[in-house]
Amino acid sequence: MSLDELSKLSSTMPQFHDLWISGGEPFLRKDLAAVIQVFYHNNRVRDVRIPTNGLPTEQTIKIVSQILETCPELRLEVDVSIDGFNDTHDRIRAVQGNFQMATQTITQLEKLRRTWPNFTLYVNTVITQENKDEVINLGDHFKKNHELDGHYFQIIRGDPKDSALQGVQAHELEQIYRKALPLNFHYTSKQAREKSTFNGIREAFWRAGYHFSYDTQFNNYTQGTKWKMPCTAGQTSIVIDYNADVRVCELRKPIGNLRKYEMDFNRFWNSFERQEEVNRVKLDQCFCTHICFMYDSMRHSKRVMLWELPRTIIKQKIRSLYRHDEADSIPKSVTQS
Ligand code: SF4
Repeated sequence: MSLDELSKLSSTMPQFHDLWISGGEPFLRKDLAAVIQVFYHNNRVRDVRIPTNGLPTEQTIKIVSQILETCPELRLEVDVSIDGFNDTHDRIRAVQGNFQMATQTITQLEKLRRTWPNFTLYVNTVITQENKDEVINLGDHFKKNHELDGHYFQIIRGDPKDSALQGVQAHELEQIYRKALPLNFHYTSKQAREKSTFNGIREAFWRAGYHFSYDTQFNNYTQGTKWKMPCTAGQTSIVIDYNADVRVCELRKPIGNLRKYEMDFNRFWNSFERQEEVNRVKLDQCFCTHICFMYDSMRHSKRVMLWELPRTIIKQKIRSLYRHDEADSIPKSVTQS
């Protein structure tokens, strides 16, 4: 989509909060800062997340600086994908020297992080059969040697070309989540100390959110268990592809193309196609481990926000009165398996 098309699209959209831009590789797009400015001004977007492979170092730093300088009220999160140490990462990514280059990008981004309190830097690791034995050591490495705001660990999702990558066994995933939680908690405490917008209540909900999402993903991955809340894909979030195809989530097929609606988002939103797909999601009762949609569905679920997360927080507090080991507070269904 051209910048003109995106501007038209933005002018037909209501205000919304979160814009998550993924690829391919988003930082290959030279006008990325201008794209974000359009949504920042027209739609009051205030949270932007960009996952990156960390390869175009110079261009990444340039664009991130432009975004931070021109959108002062924006909270910008960049997630650099790292799937293992040197050889593993380069093999998975099929790019020699990728680990070194991505690490160099992280080091450069850390300098921006020190200057801009509204900029957060994460590492994103996808857990697969190929890297399952080193992801926790990788997390420890980044905790010791870098200045991150967080490290996400996500089990591989969808329908990969090589299905063997999904061979992570339940007991292996349980161990990984068990060891990932203290790393996640290390970063939530760090943010609570360093960021004025991240107070104690927010930290408690984030911690509970990690518990809840690992628990939900684990049960879904190992037993096909449904989520405790309905998926709101297509109602509270929408995916727009590079070619203007539109879908309710990344795992389902496109339901139309915005060019057919002359880039008028409002017309698309009120279309029969979208409503029909939302109904199909309900009928299919499809469930997955996709954290982006799980997270959005969680925060729109009264049951999760008013019952599941507070319950998890209270359970954590009670456990912490008796024990001080972070791993002891892992969800019961994870620890029982
Ligand atoms: S449950 Fe997963 S696959 Fe189904 S609509 Fe939601 S995000 Fe998509």
